[in-house]
Amino acid sequence: MSGRFPEVDWFCDRCHEHLNNQSGFDDSKYTWKCTDCGHKNSISKDNIYESHEKFLGSE
Ligand SMILES: [Zn+2]
Repeated sequence: MSGRFPEVDWFCDRCHEHLNNQSGFDDSKYTWKCTDCGHKNSISKDNIYESHEKFLGSE
């Protein structure tokens, strides 16, 4: 396990791709540009949701 958030799954705010699986993803960066849609996602604890359902329901 490495990075700042070893237990957290990250999803793109725009296209909801699973960012953890994207090539080169590193949660020690403060932003991650989605390789699918190009959206810059903020990687911080403010953006962690308890579940994927809550994440989807928050928009
Ligand atoms: Zn995306």
